Amino acid sequence: MTTQLFTNAKVFTGESETGFASAFRTVDGTIDWVGAAEEVEGETAVDLGGRTVLPGLIDSHTHPALIAGTAAAVECFPPAVASVHELVETLRMHAASTGDDWVLGRGFDESKFPERRMPTAEDLDRVSKDRPVLVWRCDAHSAVCNSAALRMAGIDERTPDPEGARFERDDAGRPNGVLTEIAAVAAVASVIPAPSREEQVLAVLRFGEDLASRGIVAVCDLLSTRIDDPLGVFREAEARGLRTRVALYPGWDPEQPLADLDPLDTRGRIRVAGVKVVMDGAYSNRTAWVHEPYPDSCDHGLRLVEDEDVLAAADWARRNGVQLAVHAMGDRTLDRVIELFADREPWLDGVPSVRIEHATLVSEARAERLRAARMSFGIATHTVFFFAEYDGYEKALRAEQVPDAYPIARLYEQIEPLALSSDRPATAWSGADDVMLSIAAAVRRTAYDGTEFGMEAAVTVPQAAMLYTGRARLLSPLEGVGILAPGLDASFAVLDRDVFTVPEDEIASVRVAETWIGGQRVFIR
Ligand SMILES: [Zn+2]
Repeated sequence: MTTQLFTNAKVFTGESETGFASAFRTVDGTIDWVGAAEEVEGETAVDLGGRTVLPGLIDSHTHPALIAGTAAAVECFPPAVASVHELVETLRMHAASTGDDWVLGRGFDESKFPERRMPTAEDLDRVSKDRPVLVWRCDAHSAVCNSAALRMAGIDERTPDPEGARFERDDAGRPNGVLTEIAAVAAVASVIPAPSREEQVLAVLRFGEDLASRGIVAVCDLLSTRIDDPLGVFREAEARGLRTRVALYPGWDPEQPLADLDPLDTRGRIRVAGVKVVMDGAYSNRTAWVHEPYPDSCDHGLRLVEDEDVLAAADWARRNGVQLAVHAMGDRTLDRVIELFADREPWLDGVPSVRIEHATLVSEARAERLRAARMSFGIATHTVFFFAEYDGYEKALRAEQVPDAYPIARLYEQIEPLALSSDRPATAWSGADDVMLSIAAAVRRTAYDGTEFGMEAAVTVPQAAMLYTGRARLLSPLEGVGILAPGLDASFAVLDRDVFTVPEDEIASVRVAETWIGGQRVFIR
C-alpha cells in the first residue's frame, strides 16, 4: 500500500465555489482523506509550498481522435502563426523535421494576417517544390496546397469545380492552390495516405502528454469517428501508458447506423459515452441555423440533420445506455432540440441523457425551459470561442443578441451539468486547450483584441473553475475525476500562482506546474 500525504497547499476541492482544504492523503492512487493541514501536523508529507491545487481538470468537448487522424499536421493557429510568411516558415521547419512525403499543417486564419489574403500555391511552393504540401484553414472548410499537391491530385485548368465547392484560380484560369469548401479540399486531401494505427496510437499518447501539461486528466471526444477504431486505438494507448480518462462520442451517420455496443465498451477509463449529431454549422462562419437572418443578409444558416435522424440517434443512445450529444449552435437549432426532447423521459441516471454542445444563444426563457424540462439536459460551451474568434461573432450576431451569447452566469444558475471546454482543434487559437485562457475569458468577458463581450455574463474565478471540475463532472460518465474527495482518483494539478487571487489580467498566464494522475506525477514544468 502506497500512502502519500500532501500538505501546505491551497486546495480547491471542486465540491463548491467555497470548498477549500489545505491537505489531502492518497492511498494507492485514490484520495483517502481531505482536510486541514493542522490535523496531520508531524506526519511525513509532501510540502506543496503553499501553492494552489485544483482537482485534475476535465475538458468536456475536444477532438483527440481528429488530432490522431491528422497527426502528421503541424499546428498553424493564430497567434503563434500570424502571417503568410510565418505560415511558410512553420511549414518549412516541419518539412525539415519529417520524412519525404506530404507536408501537412492546420489552423491558419488569414483574417488575422497583416497581408489580409489567402496564402496560395505560390507561397507553399517555397516550402517545397517536390513534396506535396497542404494546410487546412482553421475552420477546416477550406485549405491551401502547393503545385506538387495539385499535380498529385490531378487538378489543372481543365478540371471543373466540384459541386458546392471551388478550386480558386488565377487570371489565366489555372488553380492557384486555394481549395474552397469541403468537396474541393477533399479532392486533394483524399490522396493523402491515412496515418497507420501505430502513428495514431503515438499521436494519442502525445495528446495525453499535452493534456497533462494543461492539468487536464479527463476528456470527452465529441466526434471520435475520424479514425477507424477509436475505442481500440485509445485502449491500446492506455495499455502503453495513456493515463487520461476518455469518453468517446462517435458521430451518427444516418447512412451507416452504428452497430450496438458491447456493454464492456461503456466501462473503464476509456469508454464510449454517447453518440453525437451535428445539427447545424457555426456562428463564426454564419452557418449556425438561426431564427433571425444574419446581419445584412436573408441567410438563416444551415440545418444539417432532419428530425428523424436526430431521433434515430437518440433511440440508439437509449438502447445502448449512453448519452445523445447534439451540436446545436444556432438559436433555432437549440429551440428544435428543446422541442424534440423537453417532454420526453430521460433514459440515464446520474448524467444528462441529452448533452447540448456549444449552445451559443441561451435566452432567459430558453435556460428556464432547459432547467424545467422532463428531459435531463446538460451543456458544454466555450468562452474561448468569443475570445479567439471575436471577428466572426461580430459579423454573425446583432448587438441585442450579445447579452444572450455564451451567458455563463445565467447557465451557471440554471443548468447543473455545465462545462467550459476547448473544442480543440476546431477553435482557431494556438493553445486553445489552455484552461486558464478560457477561465480568463469567462471572468473578463474580453476578446483577444480587448473588445468586451457581454460583461453581464461574467462569472467569478471559483465559478469558472467549477466548470472544469465539480460541475463538469456532472456532464458525462467520466468517473473518479472532477473533485478531490475520498474514493476518487488522486488526480490533481498544482499551479505556479494562485489563480483565485492574481489580478484578472494575469489569470491567463497562470501555468500548471505539476499534474498528478492516480497518485503519480505525470507532468512537471
Ligand atoms: Zn467540437
